[in-house]
Amino acid sequence: MKLVFATNNINKLKEVQEMLPNSITLVSLKDINCEEEIDETETTLQGNAILKANYITDNYQLNCFADDTGLEVAALDGKPGVYSARFAGEPTNAEKNMEKLLYEMASFTDRNAQFRTVICLNLDGNQYYFEGICKGTILMQPQGNKGFGYDPIFQPNGFEKSFAEMSSEDKNRISHRGLAIEKLVAFLRDYVA
Ligand code: IMP
Repeated sequence: MKLVFATNNINKLKEVQEMLPNSITLVSLKDINCEEEIDETETTLQGNAILKANYITDNYQLNCFADDTGLEVAALDGKPGVYSARFAGEPTNAEKNMEKLLYEMASFTDRNAQFRTVICLNLDGNQYYFEGICKGTILMQPQGNKGFGYDPIFQPNGFEKSFAEMSSEDKNRISHRGLAIEKLVAFLRDYVA
């Protein structure tokens, strides 16, 4: 079965492909010659995941899954959430996003936050959703230089280091995206069994 992962991130694609049975072949947006930018115009993570997956299924008649992730900060009522990538404006700038977040949180002692990933899967005419959550706290200042996005200021619960101080293997094992992908993979394995 051919399944589109609505991404052009080859590393993400490879990682998921390695977890799937051989009967499922993952292809990227580039592989199906989808050059269009799919604008994330919805106001929820699930809405954006659905929008991206539906775009591919409707226009290319292919099974597809898409993900969307946000950092939800308790003291900021869930912000930046679905707007995480462009919190400090466009184009996306991770440094500026972190700076703005730390500034907005300066007066809060509640540093609780979570990363949340939602995956929407369109498969043979049905739609399924998978969610992964990683809870943690927002540090007072950036720590570490691995990873991307808000990694230097996010410390997952149960660890004494930020995501940016962890190897990608360690991060993937506990991360929001890793957990959502695990659920998707378990479902797909069952589906083709
Ligand atoms: P996307 O939906 O995976 O493109 O994620 C949207 C935005 O959330 C990214 O541009 C990052 O700012 C942030 N983000 C998502 N996942 C992570 C992560 O694992 N670490 C740090 N930031 C992340």
